[in-house]
Amino acid sequence: QHDTKAIQALDSAHYLHPFTSHGDLAGVGARVITRADNIYVWDSEGAKILDAMSGLWCVNAGYGRKELADAAYQQMMTLPFYNSFFNTTNVPAVQLAAKLASLAPVVGGRKFEHVFFSSSGSESNDTNVRMVRRYWDLLGQPQRKVIISRHNAYHGSTMAGASLGGMSGMHAQGDLPIPNITHIEQPHHWDNALPGESHADFGRRAAGWLEEKILEVGPEKVAAFIAEPVQGAGGVIIPPETYWPEIQRIVDQYGILLISDEVICAFGRLGHWFAYQKFGYRPDLITFAKGVTSGYIPLGGVMVGDRVAKVLIEQGGEFNHGYTYSGHPVACAVALANLELMEREDLPGRVKNDIGPYLAERFAELSDHPLVGAAETCGFVAGLVLVKDKGTREMFDPALSVGMICRGHCFRSGLIMRAVGDRMIIAPPLVMTREQIDEMMGLIVKCLDATLDDLRN
Ligand code: PLP
Repeated sequence: QHDTKAIQALDSAHYLHPFTSHGDLAGVGARVITRADNIYVWDSEGAKILDAMSGLWCVNAGYGRKELADAAYQQMMTLPFYNSFFNTTNVPAVQLAAKLASLAPVVGGRKFEHVFFSSSGSESNDTNVRMVRRYWDLLGQPQRKVIISRHNAYHGSTMAGASLGGMSGMHAQGDLPIPNITHIEQPHHWDNALPGESHADFGRRAAGWLEEKILEVGPEKVAAFIAEPVQGAGGVIIPPETYWPEIQRIVDQYGILLISDEVICAFGRLGHWFAYQKFGYRPDLITFAKGVTSGYIPLGGVMVGDRVAKVLIEQGGEFNHGYTYSGHPVACAVALANLELMEREDLPGRVKNDIGPYLAERFAELSDHPLVGAAETCGFVAGLVLVKDKGTREMFDPALSVGMICRGHCFRSGLIMRAVGDRMIIAPPLVMTREQIDEMMGLIVKCLDATLDDLRN
């Protein structure tokens, strides 16, 4: 048993939370999550909550997996830490790098045989910025510095990560973006399509914004384009099918590197080990984190395709970059155990062939709800647009914070769902059963009804 009030008092006295307005917590106190199992978490008052966000999109294998704890324990007793700097290495890091290379399929002749490790998605994207610029320097094109990203993207909270990201609220704090990072619009049909424009036409037009930006910057100055396969934190923005093939054509035409930020989308989330498989494009670098350990311990990294690895290794000399915890043996041992578990239970296959299609079917039913303008799914991520008028697609006045009202109902009803403006999003653990999907859908409908009632009263 925990004394909730005492913990909340200590929390507000000492703990500066990430992405939290402490003013809003005053007097209310943060919800204290104390334990978890399978797809549920419990708070300090004993309430059971269905975690439809897998923590922060990361607990792919679900909570309470003893073998991950055992892997950490065994590794801590054998070799809790050693670094990979200055010509040393460790067994779990080597094994994990080889395992990841074996899971990344070859596309269009491009292979991923090398991995650079970090402890998070943000650090990995900082690594990308440095690696991409180093690559072009080594090729004698140091003027290629500009990295193009997208508005409303999320690539992390470090200076480079937040700059690559396209969140205006983050740019406004801390004088961002840093130089040589620029953004294009996101491929969001709901927000950005012309009246009557088909998804296919819109997808091609949205990809064309990349070409326009390359020409505006000057193709000889562009180093790379970075994007999430499906934008996650921006509100689960699923691109039309025509988008990625056209992006591929453009990066090929101008010879620029393509970075696929798969921090959310890899490790089964979209029904594949890596998300580029789903959309069929050919990245040069892949950012990963979160699902690689199912969030049990921090680990991230960059899968480095042959095009970049060859130059770095053969022409590079020392790459002056690395983190104390790059290739941390305990994190790598947990990742190996997690990937073995995911392989054994075929979690990517379940998402592709079983629970993914079932979620899509059940989620589509929400389109009939009076509040729902669109209900979209891709693998095991999904998003709902809450609208004032389904016919005209009129949105609510943002001052009403309808998404937050809905999130509040979820919170009280034992469901964790995230609100991004008036989009409600989910990314549940990949171990969910069909019965649990039904249970989640029941809770979602209950919360949508309660939100509608609030708006009518
Ligand atoms: N990239 C993407 C696509 C993400 O969703 C996130 C985190 O949500 C990050 C990068 C940053 O990862 P981290 O929070 O591990 O630094």
